[in-house]
Amino acid sequence: VNTSGAVLGLDLGGTQIRAAAVMPDGELLDRRSAATPHGSGPGAILDACARLLVDVRDSLPADVAAGLAAIGISSMGPVDPWRGVVVDPPNVPDLRDAPLAAEVERRLGLPAFLDRDTNVAALGEHWMGAARGHDDFLYVTVSTGLGGAIFREGSLLMGPDGCAGELGHVSLMPFDGPICGCGGVGHLEAISSGSGIARSAAAAVAADPSCSPFLAARAAPAAAAGGVRGAGGIGRISGRDVADGEAAGDEICHSLMERARRAFAIACVGWVHAFDPDLIVVGGTLAERQGDRWLDPAREEVARTAFRVPAARVKIVAATLGSDVGLVGARPLVAARTTARTAAGAAG
Ligand SMILES: [Zn+2]
Repeated sequence: VNTSGAVLGLDLGGTQIRAAAVMPDGELLDRRSAATPHGSGPGAILDACARLLVDVRDSLPADVAAGLAAIGISSMGPVDPWRGVVVDPPNVPDLRDAPLAAEVERRLGLPAFLDRDTNVAALGEHWMGAARGHDDFLYVTVSTGLGGAIFREGSLLMGPDGCAGELGHVSLMPFDGPICGCGGVGHLEAISSGSGIARSAAAAVAADPSCSPFLAARAAPAAAAGGVRGAGGIGRISGRDVADGEAAGDEICHSLMERARRAFAIACVGWVHAFDPDLIVVGGTLAERQGDRWLDPAREEVARTAFRVPAARVKIVAATLGSDVGLVGARPLVAARTTARTAAGAAG
């Protein structure tokens, strides 16, 4: 694979599919996006992915299109990165065991490489973002879920199954904590992610509707329109609603957000001890909207309670690539995999 030209990037998320060509300098050409089809089976999603990639390829300047070498794919996890299969995504059951990379490869006639979104994001931030020049860092995304990636000595730490780096699924409240989307008790994701915060808020309002006037009001229009309490009403409360409630002075929202920031800060101390990273790069819509309000408690907790030497080294910083990160990361993903393939070929 010649990686001196452009590569095609594909970013498959639970609500949106995005595609673009990624140039050698990181520029994105001919970005396109479509809603992720739900409920129509895996074929509809694979069709949508292939159609976006074909549309991008067909609209590129001829010389760029002629030099296309490969496709890099960022997918919601969990995935089998080496077989290029989306394994069992909780929010898109249609994609269970879908051979995404092989299908895209067949339909586009280009080799395709796939990894889970957080690993691709870490590659993107390392190449063009907040982790440029750093070979030992953690990437954490705080949005609907809470995911991570571990970058060690210049490459991703994969683990034998490609599953390493799930930093959100470690328990901080093992005895009385909220249940995680994965079934675990008191996982960081259940406490500090948007979906975890929302579930705890919904439980509080269900137990006592008068506890939060703000959340009761947020839930009300949907409840009135949808009818069924719990499905259309408090079930619609989002992490964003809780953050808005805190800004509006609501007590319950404030305590849930405080708990989320505090758990994240304590998790950072554990990561500093476990990995001795240069950086913890924090992305994801929830953390990005919170900014330093989210990062400062983590910085302070690490400075106050972590071992002195790694605490003095680590910097906790915001990711810089935003929603482009899954596309930008497609290029270093292709480069890393083709290097590995060449090395394996030479060794074998
Ligand atoms: Zn979990």
